[in-house]
Amino acid sequence: MRALSTSIIGGGVAGLALASGLHQRDLPFTMFERSNEFTDGGFGFILLANGRDALRELGIDLEPSEVGCEVSDAIVRTIDGEVVAAMKLTNAIAVSRHDLLKVIRSAIPPETIRLSQDFSHFDNDGSTVRAAVFADGSECAADVFVGADGSRSRCREWITPAHPAPSGRVKEIVSMVVNPELAEEVGSTFTKFMHPDGGLAVGLVPSGNGRVIWFAQFDTQRFATPDRHDAASFLHSLLGDFPAIVQRAIAATDAAAPHVWHTVDMDAPRSMVRGNVALIGDAAHPLLPFTSQGANSALEDAADLVAAVATCTSPDELEPALRAYSHRRRPRRASHVAAGRSIAADFVNPITGAVLVPFVI
Ligand SMILES: Cc1cc2nc3c(=O)[nH]c(=O)nc-3n(C[C@H](O)[C@H](O)[C@H](O)COP(=O)(O)OP(=O)(O)OC[C@H]3O[C@@H](n4cnc5c(N)ncnc54)[C@H](O)[C@@H]3O)c2cc1C
Repeated sequence: MRALSTSIIGGGVAGLALASGLHQRDLPFTMFERSNEFTDGGFGFILLANGRDALRELGIDLEPSEVGCEVSDAIVRTIDGEVVAAMKLTNAIAVSRHDLLKVIRSAIPPETIRLSQDFSHFDNDGSTVRAAVFADGSECAADVFVGADGSRSRCREWITPAHPAPSGRVKEIVSMVVNPELAEEVGSTFTKFMHPDGGLAVGLVPSGNGRVIWFAQFDTQRFATPDRHDAASFLHSLLGDFPAIVQRAIAATDAAAPHVWHTVDMDAPRSMVRGNVALIGDAAHPLLPFTSQGANSALEDAADLVAAVATCTSPDELEPALRAYSHRRRPRRASHVAAGRSIAADFVNPITGAVLVPFVI
């Protein structure tokens, strides 16, 4: 009997969380990340109760003030201020992606993380993978391989070789502003303002320490996507009718900072596993941003997969354990994909009454 070794491809939210859980159980692993340094880019997201519970299972108990702040309510308003949807949130915290990754990484021994390792393909015998092969020609053998390489996953090709490429009708321009006055006004409420004609909205998310994350969502069938250098003038021309708080958030943002985010709409692969390879997070099921479940369900995948790998005492036990993991996670990923599409369809249409809350709990 021996502990099985794991190779994790991708050091984002899902990969790091998995590494933390394996380390907590004294299981051997190595994580391979394409980037050459920990830039921990991005802005942030809302961790919901399910994501926080999964993180706890993985050995990380977040102190909200360390990574962001509590979020008590989600409210959707028209640009005239009328409330068209509202929801109380329990145990939800807005986290900065940078701070969250830093906290998770601090729970993992640094020597288990290899940077500048761009995964290329799996060396395999048709059913079982022997080694992960990287762009520089180096290889790493292991008992189990986990694809945590994000929405445009290369590991996914081993599991569903002809899977349709991701697409997305709605895009987002995202940024963060540090402005304590604005942050105080936003309070602990995530507010989304929607244009009555549909297809255009701006969200303001408190992020702690005087920070506010804002995002503008737009329907690309109505508005041509700007490149990042034109994002500020694009927003200026489109959002003139939006409330003053939105104008102030955007005006206070460094013009170079907004990021144009190409959201991904993709059917989830039927299976998250093949042989001794499993997918987690966006590699397994990229989600539209409307569900707020991208990071949360990635953490759930990681917690479930750690528990599955921990039950195996020999490579023979691995395949059934991985298949059971995929089977358990299937209903959640299918319902998140469907919910994201319903909210997206609602979003592109004119508002005629109540709208769907941009959250799936
Ligand atoms: C830079 C960045 C910024 C983001 N910012 C936000 C944000 O502000 N708000 C939000 O809601 N979501 C953001 N996301 C997406 C969000 O992190 C994910 O949707 C979610 O957390 C699921 O995490 P994940 O680990 O599956 O994917 P990701 O967080 O995307 O992580 C995937 C990791 O795999 C690595 N990788 C990819 N290909 C390879 C390869 N060939 N070899 C080795 N490593 C590889 C990537 O560099 C990345 O570190 C961001 C993602 C990234 C990569």
